[in-house]
Amino acid sequence: MGKGFFEVPIAINEPVLGYAPGSPEREAVAQTYKEMYHNSVEVSLYINGQDVSTGDSATMSCPHDHQHVLGSYHKAEKKHIEQAISGALEARKQWSQMPWEQRAGIFLRAAELIAGPYRAKINAATMLGQSKTIHQAEIDAACELIDFLRFNVQFMTEIYSEQPESSSEAWNRLEYRPLEGFIYAITPFNFTAIAGNLPSSAALMGNVVIWKPSDSQVYSAKVILDVFKEAGVPPGVINMVMGDPVMITDTVLSSPDFSGIHFTGSTHVFKDIWKKIGLNLDRYKTYPRIVGETGGKDFIVAHKTSNPKQVATAIARGAFEFQGQKCSAASRCYISRSIWPDVEKHLKADLASFKMGSPEDMSNFITAVIHEGSFDKLAGYIDRAKKDENAEIIAGGNYDKTKGYFIEPTVIKTSDPKYTTMCTELFGPVVTIYVFEDDTWEKTLHLVDDTSEYALTGAVFSEDRYALELGVKILENAAGNFYINDKPTGAVVGQQPFGGARASGTNDKAGSKLNLYRWISPRMIKETFVTPTDYRYPFLG
Ligand code: NAD
Repeated sequence: MGKGFFEVPIAINEPVLGYAPGSPEREAVAQTYKEMYHNSVEVSLYINGQDVSTGDSATMSCPHDHQHVLGSYHKAEKKHIEQAISGALEARKQWSQMPWEQRAGIFLRAAELIAGPYRAKINAATMLGQSKTIHQAEIDAACELIDFLRFNVQFMTEIYSEQPESSSEAWNRLEYRPLEGFIYAITPFNFTAIAGNLPSSAALMGNVVIWKPSDSQVYSAKVILDVFKEAGVPPGVINMVMGDPVMITDTVLSSPDFSGIHFTGSTHVFKDIWKKIGLNLDRYKTYPRIVGETGGKDFIVAHKTSNPKQVATAIARGAFEFQGQKCSAASRCYISRSIWPDVEKHLKADLASFKMGSPEDMSNFITAVIHEGSFDKLAGYIDRAKKDENAEIIAGGNYDKTKGYFIEPTVIKTSDPKYTTMCTELFGPVVTIYVFEDDTWEKTLHLVDDTSEYALTGAVFSEDRYALELGVKILENAAGNFYINDKPTGAVVGQQPFGGARASGTNDKAGSKLNLYRWISPRMIKETFVTPTDYRYPFLG
């Protein structure tokens, strides 16, 4: 920026549209859904500004209608990954020198394209390919991605304006360089917004990126890519590759120019990648930044003074929206004995009213889980709970994969607070309840803290401030996003920066300035105006 201290538009959260029957947005998304359902698409790799077909492809289908093919995507060979890396490094020469206001302009334009002409398309793609209801698609694919793009631009300018003190003799300038090399972004299936944010946040800060979306999210990833192209992201800056994740990752991690990973996905994959980075350390020109947000075993703990209807609603929404496939989804609940009968009554009534089926029918609250692997795993845990003596299924427990991967929202009640489904991340519409005695609040809080390796989200319910305060204190390290009298899901960019610690990740808080700091390497420039010409200080006499 040479010719002005420009101010960016103040970031505001994109309003969530209602999609009520008869509304124009509902008509638009229903129409787009139909068109996309009937028109097969072919998704190529995108390398250095070119669509690349490889001849080796896989099909994409709807989780709620798995015999219906939505299209296909091409899978990369090693040579394509090498081409993507060299293309990115070539693009870096110009992109890293691009004035920040030009980068800001591109990603603010991307936000407005999603808010307007691409809104119905990105939502419909997320409904079709990831089986989200229209509400879940709207808060993710449209609003959260728009928010990431707008807020990151604002955060970037806030970072750039953080400058050291200077004096009349010397001017100190801090320059926030992109990392030297390229960034590898690996994204999960469950949030279209995360798929868009992991590559774009690094690119916004002047980096070039190799982006590998999840096999189960390629359909909406293609829409994101189309938006980036139309917004003017130059060739080579964000390259999209699909295929064997191990081959792609091994190829990327063996490049001397690998300078950082922006990962969201499961814990074991992240740990494997971290180990591989360690093994390759001597190859790298620079110490890679490692940013990973991973699994959770998120809790709700309800004191005897809490409102049973509020607790039941938090479980109904927090555990079952998007079939519990949110890293933040409540999956273990600790409820005080005296309020449990009321919580149980309200929760069962809510579950009995849930409708399950295709997202095309917008009255459905529950749709399908992502793929057969997930379906089989969840069915296995449900079957086991049916047999285990210390577990009882009190709601749901049925499943059917004839047409789509449908798992009935299921509530397991256990007498063992360390029962397998109280500890293991299942990533589906299954929640486990443990009822504790009213006079064991403090002991229960310690139990919540000790039970899981994760520390992503958690919620404490109580009308008693002393009980809440004890929860805030004892659970200090049990969740990176901690909620009081609210469900533990639904973090909003710019309002609740998101991420967890322990096995849940590096807690670099997506949707905040903290995350963007990871994609820059500051250079301190001191300029002295009158340079000394004599080495002798006054004290030498
Ligand atoms: P996943 O780990 O199966 O896949 C994530 C990505 O890693 C995909 O792109 C996948 O292709 C890739 N991958 C898989 N195996 C790999 C390997 N061996 N080497 C390199 N890459 C590999 O996760 P998922 O099922 O897509 O997403 C669900 C997981 O993500 C859950 O554990 C959830 O808690 C977590 N998640 C966390 C957050 C968060 O912010 N903490 C947000 C969303 C999802």
